[in-house]
Amino acid sequence: RFGVIRISNLVSSEILLLAPLIEGSYGMAENIMVDSHVWVEDPDVAWIDGVVVDIKADQATVKTNDDREVIANLSKLYIKDDEAPSEGVEDMTRLSYLHEPAVLENLATRYGLNEIYTYTGNILIAVNPFQGLPHLYDAEVMEKYKEASFKELSPHVFAIGGIAYREMINEGRNKCILVSGESGSGKTETTKVLMRYLAYFGGHTAGEGRTVENQVLESNPVLEAFGNAKTVKNNNSSCFELDGVNDAEEYLATRKAMDVVGISEQEQDAIFRVVAAILHLGNIEFCKGEDADSSSLKDEQSKFHLQMTSELLMCDSHSLEDALCKRIMVTPEEVIKRSLDPLGAAVSRDGLAKTIYSRLFDWLVNKINISIGQDSNSRRLIGVLDIYGFESFKANSFEQFCINYTNEKLQQHFNQHVFKMEQGEYEKEEIDWSYVEFVDNQEVVDLIEKKPGGIIALLDEACMLPKSTPETFSEKLYQTFRDHKRFIKPKLTRSDFTLVHYAGDVRYQSDQFLDKNKDYVVAEHQDMLNASKCSFVSGLFPPLPKESSKSKFSSIGARFKLQLQQLMETLNHTEPHYIRCVKPNNLLQPTVFDNANVLHQLRSGGVLEAIRVKCAGYPTNRTFIEFLNRFIILAPEILKGEYEADVACKWILEKKGLTGYQIGKSKVFLRAGQMAELDAHRTRVL
Ligand code: ADP
Ligand code: MG
Repeated sequence: RFGVIRISNLVSSEILLLAPLIEGSYGMAENIMVDSHVWVEDPDVAWIDGVVVDIKADQATVKTNDDREVIANLSKLYIKDDEAPSEGVEDMTRLSYLHEPAVLENLATRYGLNEIYTYTGNILIAVNPFQGLPHLYDAEVMEKYKEASFKELSPHVFAIGGIAYREMINEGRNKCILVSGESGSGKTETTKVLMRYLAYFGGHTAGEGRTVENQVLESNPVLEAFGNAKTVKNNNSSCFELDGVNDAEEYLATRKAMDVVGISEQEQDAIFRVVAAILHLGNIEFCKGEDADSSSLKDEQSKFHLQMTSELLMCDSHSLEDALCKRIMVTPEEVIKRSLDPLGAAVSRDGLAKTIYSRLFDWLVNKINISIGQDSNSRRLIGVLDIYGFESFKANSFEQFCINYTNEKLQQHFNQHVFKMEQGEYEKEEIDWSYVEFVDNQEVVDLIEKKPGGIIALLDEACMLPKSTPETFSEKLYQTFRDHKRFIKPKLTRSDFTLVHYAGDVRYQSDQFLDKNKDYVVAEHQDMLNASKCSFVSGLFPPLPKESSKSKFSSIGARFKLQLQQLMETLNHTEPHYIRCVKPNNLLQPTVFDNANVLHQLRSGGVLEAIRVKCAGYPTNRTFIEFLNRFIILAPEILKGEYEADVACKWILEKKGLTGYQIGKSKVFLRAGQMAELDAHRTRVL
């Protein structure tokens, strides 16, 4: 009946005032009445649905679906869409009410049907199935997706890979696919599937050996094997024992992966010798020496470990002992060899282990980058980035600070992108979007990285002052950021500080920030390792240029910031596609969907952030036909006349006194809360 769609532009010219969006409520409260079907917060399942049985002032009594009565503030309730399809929707933006409980329910429903993929606009959400799903990645499925355009078929990693590839070829654009999620959420599996599909799409059959695809894939286990070993030293992490992991098999798999990424057999031998040396080094213990404040090896065991360490590193064992137990002091008059007490020697030992390990790790990263880079002779690229998610533990140190800083930067990039996509959609429909507010997280990014005056800069400053302690560093932060909205000084502490990240507050313990930020190699360690007879080891410690040999300060934080800047630059030259992996439960079991757990990931992974951006604009859109099907009942008089679809839609909206919506070329765009308002009118009529 409403088949004729006039191609005209009905951009409303009135000046629209952007009603402040009350975080969370989306303007729903006024549309909730007795008998409304709503979502209410629940300590166990995050959100539970129920029916409003009573309203007094702003308090509603809700009878939940498990027969309890809960009292909640109206502004904390969300309307449940009774017309939502029972099998869920493939794209979150199809939800009539775009809010947290609806998003969560949709994912859970689909997961129950083994539909692990769901879109939020162009973002793919992938919920880890923890089981092989039959035929999900078959050759036929690959072929089907290769033939189809984006969004023609159900959500899938293949669809993301396909559109990235197609646009790269057809439009000559560089691409990156950002795969994020917490540990165990399925990033690596997703990356594998993606790489396999990209290879297939590009006409390669998945080959053995040193193809670029395999190199990229195998670089993961190599870096993980060494990246995780890094935390073995971290005695406060219990990090966990895995059943069914066979060390010998893992070792062989790691060696094979190293072959693929181009690490020669000699290099591999040297790497494992260095790792073994570090393990022996860690077992060396010290006791009081003959002179006051000196130290010597504690016992025969320690002597044995020292011997092993020096043999493996191919260094002189006396030099090693000296490097651990003594320091050379250079004064204007003379050079003095000073002894370290047992505690000092232990610190020296740990510093040495850390230095060797981090040089080894840097070497691996560098090697992998070179080896993968060499094979690519194409000017266009699809980058695949496997990123660690936002972290907030009971105790958070410098590592969490760096990870969360990275996530803030990526989040900023993500927000800008999501916002641009929204704009694109509005432009296509030729509707006005100029007043859609965009809030980003620049403030917190500045707080961390601004130079001068940001936290990293202040930390570097503290590291260079000889008398700094965690307390003086923190005191400086407290003073500098006393009035900063994103910085909180927790009560009753002299060294903790809290940052208000986009994904929530994180309280950091600054105790080790100074130590962890310092990146210098003790001269004695440097000299000893540089003199190693093993070229691999001496290569890790090239001689320092004369000038900088005087323990010049360099900081991990500053280096990290630089690397992040380089990454952002690369990303800014590519067009991003996002895959957000979700771990549905911590038991790593199929079919278990833990609401609270998932919600936490959606919040910190930016999925809800994307939705927030959407809500600042027009969270709900419907084609004219869909809109009329649902709301014609509000203006039955329309049926008597011959109206064009857009006019009919506008009639209904005006009749109900709505403003701020937009009529596009084929769709009605509604502001947050307007769908609820219309539905409320509809309920009254029905
Ligand atoms: P991450 O890299 O995020 O830490 P992984 O990709 O290693 O997580 O996934 C953890 C485990 O979850 C895998 O070993 C696998 O058993 C399971 N898994 C993840 N994604 C899938 C999938 N798409 N299909 C089947 N199992 C999966
Ligand atoms: Mg992984």
